[in-house]
Amino acid sequence: MPTRQKIWELDPSVDPEASRHEGLLQRQPEKYADMVHSITAFGIYLIDRRGCIQSWNRGAEIITGLSRAEVIGKPYDMLFPQSAVHAGKPRKTLEFARTNSHCREEQVRRRNNGEEFLALASIDTVRSEAGELQGFVEIVQDITEVKQREDRLYRQATRDEPTGLFNRGHFIEMASLEIERARRFAEPVSLILLDIDHLRRINDTYGHETGDRVISALAKTCLANARKIDVVGRLGGEEFAIALPRANKQPAMEMAQRLRQALSQQRIQIGGGREIAFTVSMGVAALRQTTRDLTEMMRNADAALYKAKRDGRNRVEAWFE
Ligand code: GH3
Ligand code: MG
Ligand code: MG
Repeated sequence: MPTRQKIWELDPSVDPEASRHEGLLQRQPEKYADMVHSITAFGIYLIDRRGCIQSWNRGAEIITGLSRAEVIGKPYDMLFPQSAVHAGKPRKTLEFARTNSHCREEQVRRRNNGEEFLALASIDTVRSEAGELQGFVEIVQDITEVKQREDRLYRQATRDEPTGLFNRGHFIEMASLEIERARRFAEPVSLILLDIDHLRRINDTYGHETGDRVISALAKTCLANARKIDVVGRLGGEEFAIALPRANKQPAMEMAQRLRQALSQQRIQIGGGREIAFTVSMGVAALRQTTRDLTEMMRNADAALYKAKRDGRNRVEAWFE
């Protein structure tokens, strides 16, 4: 049994095995067809010029739950969910493959039981020796689980687990990108830093769990008040940040005040039908021509936050030179 490496390196001049392999397709094409048919990890099938399915291997049966009898002679459309067919996806896919000789894309497909799955589909054209289009060969791999694992890992790497907000590292990455973009297009961008007032006292009086609930409530309210383009992160502990693309100091202050008000109206259940309120202090800094980077912006916002704390908490302060 040749190793995987060996197969790629087969050279007819040094390895008689190679010429035997090469001849097999010409001498016994049905053996090749059998081999393709028996592959289980990939769906492999032919589609004719008109877009009808011509062959169907074991892998395609396993992935889609559709039997050979159900698909042969049927339109390629049947492998797609209705919504994709309405959007012309199957037709566009074959058209793209026809124009470019190849198409490789992650696409939503359907199984026989109506379930949708994510497929990595590669389509190549099949042409006669004269170059005339005869049809297509599609290879499909079910990447649903791979994708889910990937999404899970990405989430774990970029989010703060208890709140679902961006974690410190990802916030810094995203906010830095926004600053870069703002500079390039000469647009404003602002930053709000938030710190819960007297959280230590809340923890000491009502327990750490109540403190955690305050943090969760704050995260939810931040998200609910943020625009889609805002970047909301937990920098750590009880400190949070919101980057506001396309907002200069004025709208950033308005947003911060609105948020402060909304937070002060929140109530946290502490058991026995009782509830408590909490407040937050914020510092706002806007990007100026002289601001070098996010670090400097965060330092500025932090100075404003410090002032808000010093001046009595439950307030918003803007950084000023
Ligand atoms: P200030 O108004 O000056 O911000 O007072 P503070 O008590 O909020 O600030 P300080 O920095 O003195 O203490 C922060 C507290 O936040 C102490 C720490 O135990 C608490 N804390 C940090 N992270 C968490 C968390 O994840 N859950 C809970 N319940 N408490 C946390
Ligand atoms: Mg703090
Ligand atoms: Mg605090």
